[in-house]
Amino acid sequence: MDNYLFYKASDLVEKARALRKSNPEESVKCYLTAAQIFIRMSKHDREYEKDFFDMANQLFEESQTVNAKQNEYLQSIRDLAKKKLSFQDIAGLADLKDEIKLKIIEPFKNPELFKKFNKKVGGGILMFGPPGCGKTMIAEAAANEAGVKFFNVNASTLRSKYVGESEKNIANLFEEARKSSPCIIFFDEFEALGQERSNASTHTKSEVSQLLMEMNGFGNKEQEILIIAASNEPWEIDIALRREGRLGNTIFVPPPDFEARKQMIKSNLKNKPVKSVDMDAIAKLTEGFSGADITSVCEAASDFALKDSIKSGKIREITDKDFYEAMKIRNSSIKPWFNLAIAKLKETGNKDLLKGIEEYAEKARIEHNEFLQAEAV
Ligand code: ADP
Repeated sequence: MDNYLFYKASDLVEKARALRKSNPEESVKCYLTAAQIFIRMSKHDREYEKDFFDMANQLFEESQTVNAKQNEYLQSIRDLAKKKLSFQDIAGLADLKDEIKLKIIEPFKNPELFKKFNKKVGGGILMFGPPGCGKTMIAEAAANEAGVKFFNVNASTLRSKYVGESEKNIANLFEEARKSSPCIIFFDEFEALGQERSNASTHTKSEVSQLLMEMNGFGNKEQEILIIAASNEPWEIDIALRREGRLGNTIFVPPPDFEARKQMIKSNLKNKPVKSVDMDAIAKLTEGFSGADITSVCEAASDFALKDSIKSGKIREITDKDFYEAMKIRNSSIKPWFNLAIAKLKETGNKDLLKGIEEYAEKARIEHNEFLQAEAV
């Protein structure tokens, strides 16, 4: 390690921190020069290569917090961390939000009104669709907007390899939920728990029976519990669990449409240095991407600009070109899901679920075939 350079960089960091308020411009300069030195050191020192690079990255980020505008940015991040997720944070899915408002939020907010119309509070909803399209976000936002306690359960964590343990875990969860009623239980990866009994082991069968028992009678006056289950593999779920009175409502959560993708790109780039990004063009090119895919493309594009900025010591804004480069390394992760979903839903006779996804499936299948053909060339 070059001690001289190390001490020089450390002095600069000290100076940068001391000057943050009295001379912000000089402070930023010191941060960036120090970051440049660490970058140079990382290139010549294999042992500490990663540490120096991380240090440079950290200094670059620290430099961004110096001026007033950047402080506002930090403040908005802090506010975001404090703010609970709401429907406004979820791009697109307007029909689904309306349906959830009517079926979940309003009954919890206006139980008396719903009772007058002979509608019960609570019950069950199954959301299904490709991964990364907002099922978890919707469930969390619904609980926040309804103002009730939210149990977020990953179904596979309730399962135990010991006979009788999973049933006990399920019973304990419902016991806890009844004490906190009204409340929402969200089961992610529900297929892990509610597996189709004809294919399942005896062990799994008794887990399903326990679930059925717990679900019988919930949603009545004493138990205002709503279950939201999410699954990427609904064909694996025991049909008995989807009957009226249990998970009676089944809702497809589609990939984001053009407007939703545009909104996601905008929100991912919010408060970042952006020069010329044609949001419409990027939203068009990301047809068939999930919300999570879009977040990942935006991050990759932003990282290209960040790396250049660290190298040059000057902020290099994000442009269209960064997105084109990002899309070379980040593709849609959900196209194959549609092919699998169609085959499995047909195989298992789940025609009712097929209906909802046909429109998207056809498009995705064509795109996927094109994708496979392109790969084969
Ligand atoms: P799922 O539960 O369907 O697998 P998530 O709700 O966990 O998907 O979404 C994963 C991530 O993708 C989110 O944390 C968010 O960054 C992004 N995302 C997905 N859908 C949306 C959406 N509709 N609006 C905004 N961000 C989204």
